[in-house]
Amino acid sequence: MECVIIGGGAAGLQAALHCRRCWPEKSVLLIEAEGDVGYCNPLLPQFMAGQVEEEKLFFWQPAEDPLLQIRKGIKIRSLDRPTQSLNLDNQEKIRYERLILAPGGQPILPLLRREDLPEGIFPVRTLATARKIRDWLLKHKEIVVLGGGLVGVKTAAYLQLAGFAVSLVEKEDHLLPQALTKPSARLVERHLQRLGIRLFLGCLLEDIQEEKGILKSAKVSGQWIPGETLLIAVGSTPNIDFLENSGLLQDKELLVSPALQTADANIFAAGDAVTISTSGGEKHKPWTWPQAVTQGKLAAENLFRSVPLPLNVLTRPNSMNLQGLSIVILGAPTPDAAIISHDRTAEGIYRELFLRGRKIVGGALVGDISGAGLLHFLMINGSEVDGDVARFLKPQSRVFYQLLPSSKRQRRRARILFPKEMLS
Ligand SMILES: Cc1cc2nc3c(=O)[nH]c(=O)nc-3n(C[C@H](O)[C@H](O)[C@H](O)COP(=O)(O)OP(=O)(O)OC[C@H]3O[C@@H](n4cnc5c(N)ncnc54)[C@H](O)[C@@H]3O)c2cc1C
Repeated sequence: MECVIIGGGAAGLQAALHCRRCWPEKSVLLIEAEGDVGYCNPLLPQFMAGQVEEEKLFFWQPAEDPLLQIRKGIKIRSLDRPTQSLNLDNQEKIRYERLILAPGGQPILPLLRREDLPEGIFPVRTLATARKIRDWLLKHKEIVVLGGGLVGVKTAAYLQLAGFAVSLVEKEDHLLPQALTKPSARLVERHLQRLGIRLFLGCLLEDIQEEKGILKSAKVSGQWIPGETLLIAVGSTPNIDFLENSGLLQDKELLVSPALQTADANIFAAGDAVTISTSGGEKHKPWTWPQAVTQGKLAAENLFRSVPLPLNVLTRPNSMNLQGLSIVILGAPTPDAAIISHDRTAEGIYRELFLRGRKIVGGALVGDISGAGLLHFLMINGSEVDGDVARFLKPQSRVFYQLLPSSKRQRRRARILFPKEMLS
């Protein structure tokens, strides 16, 4: 086989489709351990809450293409680089000319110090588990969500609105700790509490109780919270055990260059499994859906290029609407960055930027996300922001418009005045 791709998630599927576009003469084989390919993980909270039906999760359907083969329900056991081959769990051996690794992450499961866990405990990660959760929730209405990151917060919000009684537990002292500072997270916390979610911040899961083999309650920092369902969303670790003897891992990390090339020139990698290492020695783990898609495409494009192209953006911007509260995350808070903020908490708005010198290195907009695109543009281009930086944070500020290059400003004005077809 010419191109083999491991993993049919966001990165792997985009890599396969893009490979067919970039290298139309080459045959592509995608191998996925699970039974589903082409669904959208970020919609799983809505699916579990019954707001989105299963068919709407799928953004891609297979089309007739003799050079694209997708094999599901088969796991790669190991990689043998000297023979350029993969060992599958059904004892098959497959040879590759070029390989893309996109195995994503596996959920971290907190140690409950028990072998025989009761029914009602599920990690939130795949469609297969989300189906089980949805079925389970038909009969069980009290839920404890463990983990106040992106996945936990979304899961809690959608399930609470669907009529469940949700408690959300986070070990740090505020929600979304990898993305927001405490003051901006406060707004999210207030919003979730208004929805009726019980928050347990700065708390750890210590124990569980069961009755007749079914979860009954979870002990969190000394308190027992009732609930027949425990949804675990405390993050993921790269799914790279099968690469253990491949020589591609360094300190248990799958390191790639900014062009997504591994230590082997014939092997690229993309998505939640990779750590991008720059020539300056910085490490980046931009594990988000948009990054997985972009990286999958770039890995495909680079497969047969003599000089592979680097990834333009190493940041992990994200946006979401949490049942009425809009949030844009430009980049995580870093200890050495200065923080400026626009605080209108009383009106449900908090906007902050993280600056190193005069460059934006991150930020978050909560409650009013106007100007997010331009702030992101300034950030990824490393533009220096001059003068009174706080004006960038004013919602709907005219500064945004003035900052656009004049060519773009003209186009923007034209777009407002004329229908699109008149401009072409
Ligand atoms: C519930 C939920 C909500 C989320 N919400 C958001 C959001 O709002 N915004 C956002 O940016 N991100 C969100 N994410 C994260 C986002 O989904 C991931 O960043 C993205 O899916 C990563 O894509 P990936 O292709 O690297 O990995 P994955 O999507 O995990 O895909 C990897 C695939 O590889 C397969 N695989 C692994 N090992 C093997 C093997 N040995 N052999 C064969 N196949 C293998 C796995 O079965 C899996 O299907 C969310 C994630 C979840 C679970």
